[in-house]
Parts: sequence; structure tokens; C-alpha cells
Amino acid sequence: MAQEIIHLAERVLQVPPSPTLAVNAKAKALKAAGEDILNFSVGEPDFDTPEHVREAGKKAIDDGHTRYTAVPGIPELREAVCMRFKEDHDWDYHPDQIQVCCGGKQGLYNIFQAMLNPGDEVLIPAPYWVSYPPIVQLAGGVPVEVPLDEAMNFDLNPNTLAAKVTSKTKAIFLNSPSNPAGSIFSATALEAVAKMALERGWLVVTDDIYETITYLDGKLPHILDVEPRLKTQTVVLNGVSKSFAMTGWRIGYCAGPAHLIKAMNKIQSQSTSNPCTPAQYAALAALIGPQDFPGIMKQAFLPRRDFFVQDLESIEGVSCVNPSGAFYVFPNFSAYYGKSFKGKVIKDSVAMADYFLDEAKVASVPGAAFGADAFVRFSFATSMEVIQEGMTRIKQALAALAG
Ligand code: PMP
Ligand code: GLU
Repeated sequence: MAQEIIHLAERVLQVPPSPTLAVNAKAKALKAAGEDILNFSVGEPDFDTPEHVREAGKKAIDDGHTRYTAVPGIPELREAVCMRFKEDHDWDYHPDQIQVCCGGKQGLYNIFQAMLNPGDEVLIPAPYWVSYPPIVQLAGGVPVEVPLDEAMNFDLNPNTLAAKVTSKTKAIFLNSPSNPAGSIFSATALEAVAKMALERGWLVVTDDIYETITYLDGKLPHILDVEPRLKTQTVVLNGVSKSFAMTGWRIGYCAGPAHLIKAMNKIQSQSTSNPCTPAQYAALAALIGPQDFPGIMKQAFLPRRDFFVQDLESIEGVSCVNPSGAFYVFPNFSAYYGKSFKGKVIKDSVAMADYFLDEAKVASVPGAAFGADAFVRFSFATSMEVIQEGMTRIKQALAALAG
């Protein structure tokens, strides 16, 4: 192989590419090459963006909304975000406390670029969404995993959290409902986090991207409701990607203390300038229009979740926490690690997911990518037929393992 002349930056070498996007790309390529792949890898709703939102995007283009906007987003959209927070949560935000960004992912990137110094530590409950540690690392920070226990339905244990705190701890991630387990944090756990965060002045980053997709009867506990005084040291991250099936439009938003949002705007002004202009108008239509869409998706997700969880749980040695939100199941396959197929040992979640892809033609994401190697993630944002066929193949593949 030819010698590469350009050396890459240390900070880039220490992070992997997004594994969820990588598996999805591989599954799509195999499918395009004619393989009969069932794709459970990427997490995006299998719904089209609602019609009135699509129309608003098209109209924005026809109306000439095709130029740069204000760095933190058009004022109407920031006002609409404030309106949603008020209506949905009774939280008061001013448009100066809002940044609209290129998807929730860029919002998280902006937050940590704006507030971390080299060596600062960020607490990340694990299993976590794949991009949290790299986003912290790319900002010079150190991700510190806080293990969550499957036996506690992945709720946060305050003692486990306390054991990970050091003088360098600067922030904590919360994600409830979570990706990858669809788990939620109890009010009791959030109270413990709030107490520590208040005492020590941490930034709380609450990633609420799945808040509209919950299967709970009651209200979803939220750290700002548990402890309203935390508002001055919390960033709420949300967006339209999941709730309005708008993953490709790339619109997310953050709400937080004005000085931090201003610093994040500085970063956005020097990187992407502003989120895609017509997409902002489409997001505006989503936020000010009818709010029944997430509920419609939820009705479709619910029977899929129930089938998936029950069928997984019926397999000898497999356990699966019933997700309270989002559209993922995260079964524990570790009882099968150490078994083999044609002499090849399945030693971990990466080998398990590879085996499912090679032998069952089922694409999934290994738990190792989420900091939890005992598990494999499947998205149920796909049809019931695909889930049923996928489960048949998974059961056959597991039964074919020896040892
Ligand atoms: N947070 C979590 C937990 C996610 O699963 C995603 C999905 N990509 C995001 C944030 C970011 O979403 P997006 O950038 O597509 O708005
Ligand atoms: N959040 C989704 C997932 O976990 C989208 C892909 C990504 O950005 O990671 O699959």
C-alpha cells in the first residue's frame, strides 16, 4: 500500500466512525447487491415526514427562503421552540436561550466544544448512544462511563454514579427514553443526579430526542421538573428527527443558559453558519402544527415492540428489558457467547452481530458500540412482517450454534 503523506490528527484517530451509520451503510450495500437483508440497524422512523411539513419545506424554497439565516436559526423557529417547551412542559425559555442546529447531533457537538477544557470529564450512563463518547473526545474531554444494570431496567444507581465522580467531572448526559435500550430514568434517580449536579456545578445535558415516543401510562419524569433550580446549568436537547420523521432534514435544537448558547452560536457561526434554511421552515410547520404525529407512529410501534420483546424473551438464555420508549429492543445474548458456528467462536457482541448478518441476513448493531457488550440492538422502526421474519431467522441462527 502506498505510504500516506498526510498524517491525521490525534483526536480523530481516537474515535471510530458512527457504528450505527456504518452498519446501515453495509446493510444497504448488501441489499443493493441483491442479498436478502433484513435491516434492523439504523434508528429512524419508517414513516414519511407528514405532508403539511413537506409542503412547508417546498413552499419555503418557492418563497425564496434559500439564503443564509441568523446563526442560531430563524426567529420564528426559535419562538416556536419556546412555545413548545411552554405548552409541553410549562418551561419558560427566551429565544436567546435557543439554538437551532443541524440535527440534534450537531447540538451536542456545539455544547461540548463550547464548555470543555482538555481533560474535563463527562459522565455517560452506559449503555449510551454511540456518539456521546466521541463528541466528548473531539472536544478534548474524557468520557467516563457509569454502568447501568439490566436487572434495574437500566435505571441510574446513585451509588454507581457517585463512585465515578472526580474533581474533573464537569457534565453529565441524561437520555430518557434512551437509545439503545428505550429505558427511562426514575424520578428518584433524577433527584439524586440533581442533588449532585447542584452541589458540584455540573452541566446537565438532557437528550430528550425520544420524549414524544413513550409507552408509559403516566408522565415521563424529567430532571427540570424534579429540580427546577437546575435550569441555569442544564441544556435540553431535542429536535424533529424522531418526533416528525425528519431525520434527513437535519434540524435539532438546544435550550440552555444564554451565555452557553451564545458560545455555541460562535462555534456554529464558524462551522456550519446556520441549519439548512428550507428545513428550518419545515421544522417550524412541524412545531406549530398538529401534534398528533408522534402518537400515530407510537400506535404502529407498540404491537411491534410487544411482539419483539415477547419473542426474544421466549428464547432460552435471552433476556430483554421491555422498552418504555423509543423504537429499539436491546436483548442480552451473552449466554450464547463462547458458542461456535462451523468452528468459529462467537466471543462477543461484534461477533454475534456479524454472525446474524452473515448467516441470518439480519443487520443489527453490536452492544459494544453502546458500551454494553452483552447486548445487540435492533430497531423496530420497520414492518411487523420484517420483524416476524427476522425473529424466525434469529432463532434459527441461535439454534445452529454449538457448544
Ligand atoms: N440523540 C440520540 C439519543 C439519538 O438516537 C439521535 C439519533 N441520531 C440523536 C441524538 C441525534 O439525532 P439527529 O442528529 O438525527 O437529530
Ligand atoms: N440515532 C440513530 C441510531 O442510533 C441514527 C444514526 C446515528 O446518528 O447514530 O441509529
